[in-house]
Amino acid sequence: MPIVQVAFDLPLDRLFDYLAPEASAADVGLRTLAPFGSGQKVGVILSVVSESRWPEEQLRPVTAIWRDTPPLSQADLKLLHFCSTYYHHPLGAVTLNALPPGLRRIKGWSPPRRRRKCAEVEPVAAPTLTSEQQAAVASVLSGMDGFQPVLLHGITGSGKTEVYLRLIEQQVAAGRQVLVLAPEISLTPQLEQRFRQRLPGISMVSMHSGLGEKERAVRWLEAQNGEAAVVLGTRSAIFCPMPRLGLIVVDEEHDGSYKQQEGLRYSARDLALVRAQQLQIPAVLGSATPALESWWNVQAGRYRLLSLSDRAISGARLPSIRLVETSAAQAQDMSPVVLEALASRLARKEQSLVFVNRRGYAPVLFCPQCRWISGCSRCSARMVVHLRRHELRCHHCGLKHPIPQRCPDCGNTHLETLGSGTQKIEAALHSHFPSARILRLDSDTLTRREAWEETLKTIHAGEVDILVGTQLLVKGHDFPRITLVAALGVDQALYSSDFRSSERLFAQLVQVAGRAGRAADSGEVLIQTAFPGHPLFQSLLAHDYPGFAQRELEERRLTGFPPFAYQALLRASSENPAALEKFMQEAVEATPPRQHGLEIYDPVPPPLARLAGKARLQLLVQAPHRAQLQEFLSAWEARLHALAPRSVQWSLDVDPTEL
Ligand code: ADP
Ligand code: ZN
Ligand code: ZN
Repeated sequence: MPIVQVAFDLPLDRLFDYLAPEASAADVGLRTLAPFGSGQKVGVILSVVSESRWPEEQLRPVTAIWRDTPPLSQADLKLLHFCSTYYHHPLGAVTLNALPPGLRRIKGWSPPRRRRKCAEVEPVAAPTLTSEQQAAVASVLSGMDGFQPVLLHGITGSGKTEVYLRLIEQQVAAGRQVLVLAPEISLTPQLEQRFRQRLPGISMVSMHSGLGEKERAVRWLEAQNGEAAVVLGTRSAIFCPMPRLGLIVVDEEHDGSYKQQEGLRYSARDLALVRAQQLQIPAVLGSATPALESWWNVQAGRYRLLSLSDRAISGARLPSIRLVETSAAQAQDMSPVVLEALASRLARKEQSLVFVNRRGYAPVLFCPQCRWISGCSRCSARMVVHLRRHELRCHHCGLKHPIPQRCPDCGNTHLETLGSGTQKIEAALHSHFPSARILRLDSDTLTRREAWEETLKTIHAGEVDILVGTQLLVKGHDFPRITLVAALGVDQALYSSDFRSSERLFAQLVQVAGRAGRAADSGEVLIQTAFPGHPLFQSLLAHDYPGFAQRELEERRLTGFPPFAYQALLRASSENPAALEKFMQEAVEATPPRQHGLEIYDPVPPPLARLAGKARLQLLVQAPHRAQLQEFLSAWEARLHALAPRSVQWSLDVDPTEL
């Protein structure tokens, strides 16, 4: 009797056998409902065999095999297999998590009765390509029938999106599908709208977490049955089945959001390359500030570099960037130079953007008398002041408290806020410019897509004079009316212990600067810093990413960091600190014999040593070659499974981006 081998979303690296009298090889990749323990579970059939290693009388029959949706193809399963092996994550968990949530449910799948209709858009004619754009398009088109990794490096506004659009048109005309990954589509309706305007008549679906469950499943199925020619999606869309996939585009390929930071810790950018290689199709990675890994891949001859060095709209110039020197203590508040520049924009009725680099700091409550600081009782993080709700909130575990009236340690009633969050800057702006229309945008004010779209409209209509915001604001938005950008609080990234922090800062400042003067009138960018001589700023002023990248890469080479080494982290947490310590120590002792060059560091607490009441430790492994690291991890993983007590949760993070 046919036996199906089923993958479930479980932390176990094995499949489960069931009897399925009517199953055939064509059922591989289908979803199935099967008894599990005393309940039922949804799984995916990964193979159909005639014999099990268990006696047949011990096997139970499946409850149902769902044939109303197409199976995952061999190509889809191949990608999931790679993902499971490379990231050392159970195949079942990888497979089920690749499905949209609506198709993981026991209820079975029923399409919604009414589809939400997309708003009609006015088609927009294609511009004549610049010669650089033309060369880039031609270059990719010349190698369409094989794996072709391309890095499209172009300054902001150089017309990278236009290059993608031409490639998409060509591929769709040739009967193929295109997958476009972007960092934050739910917050960038402009990107989707532009695609629709420029690709009228091409069926396109966008896929992101802001969608309802049914809608997401419907779009996924449209991609899977080939109806949707173009999929525009965030990270998880990399797993979307597309039977005629002919091209993958990864926009803003350096963006940190491509790496998932929990569960299966995959990089969608890296998987895009794997998928393209498996399918022997081109992959185009685009960015104004490529990840240093990608830039190094160009230098090592693995990727082809295509460059766009000018802004696409003739007459649009790069904004002029100016450093405003302040003392270290004042770098987070607005200096007189910045205030004056804002005042002159207000007088000319132009928009300004105040960018607050909040990564790593936020307003915390502080007692000047005894130096008490508002720490979270469950984490090693600081609680952040939220003035509007009048509460302290931990951004890591969500714990909330009302703002205390007096210092819990010494009773002092004059508590101060430390650090400069967007709210504090907003308040300062109000007092300096009482009649200005000021709008603060950050993840606290923008949780819903609709709210965000409303906000964008207000900005575009010119109903705002000064925008205050964090990195959210600078992700790919076009604000043509902004002529001044002021960046505050950037210095700590220069001297952070994280070796990636200057790379991130550079990318962020380039993006911020790109917001100014995108249209014909050029803009001005002011960066407040106590370290104007820092080489990072010198490269930035010269609009010289290659120079910056070369210096950073040299430093990474000397210090032996990626891309000159391959890393993995063992992450572990427990409510029982003693058990955690013991596990980590045993993990070190259980490391398999290893080749020369592979290094194992000591277990250390991560920057957030406690999270939601659990103690955390991590251990870094580093190797000069990828294959060497992988071989080591496979052997180690098996031993870790045997070692770990129930009270300790652990996982491997391959190619970690946050140490
Ligand atoms: P990027 O994606 O590199 O930031 P975009 O593709 O968004 O750049 O292009 C910037 C602006 O230039 C957009 O308004 C776009 O419509 C316009 N643009 C792009 N290519 C051309 C072109 N060849 N001729 C005229 N305008 C162009
Ligand atoms: Zn005190
Ligand atoms: Zn907390």
